[in-house]
Amino acid sequence: MSEDYQILLYYLYRQIENSQAYVEEHRSLCQSLGLRGRILIGDEGINGTVSGLREATERYQESLRTDPRTAGISFKIDAAVGHVFPKLIVKWRPEIVTLGLGPEDVDPTVRTGKRLSPLEWLEAMREENVVVIDGRNRYESELGRFKGAICPDIDNFREFPGWLREHAEELRGRKILTYCTGGIRCEKLSGYLLEEGFEDVSQLEGGIVTYGKDPATLGRDFEGLCYVFDQRIGVEVNFTETRKIVSRCEKCEDPCARYRNCSCKSCNRKYFLCASCEETKGRACSSGCEAVVG
Ligand SMILES: [Zn+2]
Ligand SMILES: [Zn+2]
Repeated sequence: MSEDYQILLYYLYRQIENSQAYVEEHRSLCQSLGLRGRILIGDEGINGTVSGLREATERYQESLRTDPRTAGISFKIDAAVGHVFPKLIVKWRPEIVTLGLGPEDVDPTVRTGKRLSPLEWLEAMREENVVVIDGRNRYESELGRFKGAICPDIDNFREFPGWLREHAEELRGRKILTYCTGGIRCEKLSGYLLEEGFEDVSQLEGGIVTYGKDPATLGRDFEGLCYVFDQRIGVEVNFTETRKIVSRCEKCEDPCARYRNCSCKSCNRKYFLCASCEETKGRACSSGCEAVVG
């Protein structure tokens, strides 16, 4: 199959005037180009991921780059054989990424951690007294993460402040490195860590997705796959000989990077399930759920 489609991942923290009207305008632009995906727009900026025909995604990028409101935005691009989203969603949100801090929210254009290029990041991870924090949710870090990273047991980014209160002591006085999928969450997370009094805080610029494409690192020291919020679920990051699968099928414990949702509608839990277990044991995640499904 030929890769006639592209997937774009992008964000920009910048004050948008009349952001609610901009949502309508932006939706029309995406519809006219036949794009699908999920875009959040707020007063503080834009956060999106879309799929579309190559030419349409090129025109979309051009449109955002030449619009003064979004000039300077950068895109992470993957080739694809078709759409990876079922539909288009363009929504207004008070925050495009939220730590749930309300009026105390972090403005990354004012305060954020030092930005490290992929190679700087790889070198920094190998320094003394460093702690690497995964800025994503548990279901993401379970599929893959940087070697040795602390992966918070959270289901939503807004649980981070609570997690940090419990772990502040073990982080004090250490050099902190944070990373996430494309970089947008770390802009706020690293700024929040600085506001909480941690002094040496850096972030992986462009996130895991950029790191995996960088010829200087080839994704070294990333284990497993990077969770993505589209139909691919996981993408390769590490192109060195050290690549491996870190997640396991919940039923047989064989290495497995295949996420499925429990077939019990009220559970719907996302878990690792290999193809052979799905075939022989079904898609319910537990005997309780199996009893419901029948
Ligand atoms: Zn299995
Ligand atoms: Zn279940």
